Amino acid sequence: MSNPSLQFRRTGILFVISAPSGAGKTTLCTALRQKPDFVWSVSCTTRAPRPGEVDGEDYHFLHPQDFEASLAKGEFLEHAEVHGNHYGTLKGPVLENLRNGIDVLLDIDTHGAANIRACGDPLILRALADVFLLPPDLEELRRRLLRRGTETEEQVEIRMSNAAKEMECWRDYRYTIINGSMEENIEKFRAVMRAERYLSHRMTVETSR
Ligand code: 5GP
Repeated sequence: MSNPSLQFRRTGILFVISAPSGAGKTTLCTALRQKPDFVWSVSCTTRAPRPGEVDGEDYHFLHPQDFEASLAKGEFLEHAEVHGNHYGTLKGPVLENLRNGIDVLLDIDTHGAANIRACGDPLILRALADVFLLPPDLEELRRRLLRRGTETEEQVEIRMSNAAKEMECWRDYRYTIINGSMEENIEKFRAVMRAERYLSHRMTVETSR
């Protein structure tokens, strides 16, 4: 008679990362995306593409009417207006990946993260692992935004006033990473990913012969 063996499986993890714009989150996410150990959730947005951004890879760039239509059809897991543009996470691909045990990474603002925490869906809530990247001081943030040069001065000011409000939300997140060098941020985020993957409550076990 053969010995029964235990087959461990787990459901996917919904990694959520938020930070005020200019805090280094896009650079961190770009670095994390180099390793294919999660699926990157491509958000929909009504904002115009920046130079180098690819439709369908960085965002699904939608006309406001098409965004409204998706919203009316209930296609978004969460959505928010950020810096005067609309952003939304498509529900279908996120749920499908989580059910198949595949981890998903969302880069969303603090309102979007709050919407997810309030969504009431047990699969999503069990899957959620939210991380806040706490930026350097606000002046450094302004310098970074100006250096990036992708926003007008007026847009930089909107992002600065939003940043101050967003920074107050760090306590709502399970993890806070205080911004260090890019290598430190990547290492800290990967440590969070590793720990979340070993949580017992994510595991189901089957016995096979
Ligand atoms: P950006 O325009 O610089 O790419 O993004 C601006 C902000 O929108 C960032 O804080 C980013 O995290 C957030 N964002 C991007 N996609 C989504 C989304 O699908 N939902 C929400 N709520 N925020 C998003």
